Amino acid sequence: MRSITSFDIQYAHRFYRFQGEAQYLHGHTGVLTIEVEDSVEPGVNMVFPCNEIQKTAWAVLKNFDHALILREDDPLLPAILNVYEEQGIRNGAPTNTMKGEAIKTDLITCYPECRLVVTKETMTVEGMIKIVYDLLKDKLNIAKITFTSGVNAATQEFATHGSKDRCPLCGIMLDEHGACPKCGYHK
Ligand SMILES: [Zn+2]
Ligand SMILES: [Zn+2]
Repeated sequence: MRSITSFDIQYAHRFYRFQGEAQYLHGHTGVLTIEVEDSVEPGVNMVFPCNEIQKTAWAVLKNFDHALILREDDPLLPAILNVYEEQGIRNGAPTNTMKGEAIKTDLITCYPECRLVVTKETMTVEGMIKIVYDLLKDKLNIAKITFTSGVNAATQEFATHGSKDRCPLCGIMLDEHGACPKCGYHK
């Protein structure tokens, strides 16, 4: 069975060199839906608690919220970093508190201190699904990701591998020692 959770991501981006309006900087509220597949854990009668899926996903995805997302070769990138530098907010601001980790993968580099994500590929809805799967595939049994943003939407199914041991008391994934990091249950 699947547990399904959705959340909003507010972001600005553009499609550099795209022949259309989207080559201009603009913003969206994107809706990301993650479907996690596994057996139903009998103790809690759930596949996985949805708020825990959100917590796990948000730990990395908050980098994209209220962020500017630009491709690595976009000339707006040095221009914007210059403005942030001159304004004194390039390396952070006291009001920028909702920061994620400074993640770097083959697909993205996050600069949480100035709410910027630099991508290898254009950040389309399809591109976002590739990024999200890459960030979360080892943390969640992801069966499907859907991302909608304005009139654009994309979805992708993924093969899941095996079942994860979950806590019969609170449903979250047990650590490598069979212990629940949340409630202290031990297998
Ligand atoms: Zn757009
Ligand atoms: Zn537990």
